[in-house]
Amino acid sequence: MDISDRNNIKLRDRQVAIIGLGRSGVAAARLADHLGAQVFVSDSHDSPTVAENYRRLQHDSIAGEIGGHGDRIYQADLWVLSPGIARNAPLVLEAQNRGISIVSEIEFASWFTMAPLLAVTGSNGKTTTVHALAKMCQTEHSHSALSGNMGVPFSQIVLADLIEPDPRRIHVLEISSFQMEFIHHFRPKVSVFLNISPDHLDRYSSMDEYVAAKMRMAVNAGTEDFIVYNADDDYLNQAFTEAAAHTRSFSLKDIPGALFTVNRTKIKNFEHATLIPLDEVALPGQHNLANLLAAATAAHLAGAPDQSIAMAMGTFRGVPHRLEKVAEFNGVTYVNDSKATNLDAVKVALKSYPGPIILILGGKDKGGDFSELLPLFRNRVKQIIAIGQAQPRILAALRDAARPIPLDGLRDAVKFTRDSAEPGDIVLLSPGCASFDQFRDFEDRGDQFKQLVQEEVVNA
Ligand code: ADP
Repeated sequence: MDISDRNNIKLRDRQVAIIGLGRSGVAAARLADHLGAQVFVSDSHDSPTVAENYRRLQHDSIAGEIGGHGDRIYQADLWVLSPGIARNAPLVLEAQNRGISIVSEIEFASWFTMAPLLAVTGSNGKTTTVHALAKMCQTEHSHSALSGNMGVPFSQIVLADLIEPDPRRIHVLEISSFQMEFIHHFRPKVSVFLNISPDHLDRYSSMDEYVAAKMRMAVNAGTEDFIVYNADDDYLNQAFTEAAAHTRSFSLKDIPGALFTVNRTKIKNFEHATLIPLDEVALPGQHNLANLLAAATAAHLAGAPDQSIAMAMGTFRGVPHRLEKVAEFNGVTYVNDSKATNLDAVKVALKSYPGPIILILGGKDKGGDFSELLPLFRNRVKQIIAIGQAQPRILAALRDAARPIPLDGLRDAVKFTRDSAEPGDIVLLSPGCASFDQFRDFEDRGDQFKQLVQEEVVNA
């Protein structure tokens, strides 16, 4: 199927295969169905979630299969591929051999909206930033809708807008590198790059490949578009010296040309007027200040007034599972940072507290070098607890300097902290690893942590 002209893609009666039935696959199937395509969904798994998603689609007369891919998937004009499937998976190569056009769900949905797109990517801080950005862009003149990697599929919002159009719509999109692997026309009005640090090295063969995948978000940016990037990040600083789009950087340092700058007491706008005093900013941590500067810059470029930007900064308290205060008991504070699935996120978590910290680390190993954390431990971290599949690597990397304690699982870790923490301590779950060794996802891990703190500490 020819998809070279974005404005002339017609799906009516075309065969569209949706490969992977997660949330975004379901939403893409419904969007394609609404547009008159012959939809076929296919997932190699048959987990309860996949089975339930499939059942719902079948109920609406959408055909498909789960628990394996049959040959039917190759009788398609177009594939919408789940971000969970690697670019070089055999079935992807086979589809390419057969000349089937393959797109990501984000690309697919983007064909069917004319509303401006504000897209945010980076290794850390995406979800926090898009929530802040959506709040800043929720005004009388613009109605922001948040979607993408944060959980609500873009296709779902686009479909809702097709059914009930909103001329003031602005899409705020959280984008992961995987979602950019199959894009063609995707073109945000504002592309925000927060930071680039080693992540997903289990799926990308090198750091360069990972960076290149993220950079693809702005590959179609033209002279009417904007790229917003973090000038404090070495990779990003080098990347955008010759971009076609207008570039605007943000920084925690006072750099020339930034739309918003920060000094010791306040955030200022480009006219040097006070946007908001720092002690009125609701989110804690320097890293969150960087996220807010990124969001503010993008919101300004999208037309949001300073008043709305300042209001969001003063009221937005963050998203669960990111440095989320869970309980304070006998002077000990319990913090759930389950979303810290890489070591950079652990580093900013450690920097957000003066100490003393009892750190719970571990989960499914993503190949990071735990010894990178060592410089941050001094005078701050009093105890490290190593759990999960990554435990042997944590023990090996930290052994001499930090003497981590190996424990069996999260419950044992929480029990241990109950018996050993002293008033003033912070018990921080900031795993630096993925969650899939023992939990459904990072939310499940964070929720279980919160429950264990209630059971084993507060109500013990
Ligand atoms: P993402 O959606 O990119 O995973 P989140 O906002 O969900 O980002 O935050 C994920 C983790 O990264 C949390 O542990 C959070 O405290 C940490 N984090 C947030 N912003 C930053 C940042 N700018 N730099 C480094 N780590 C960050």
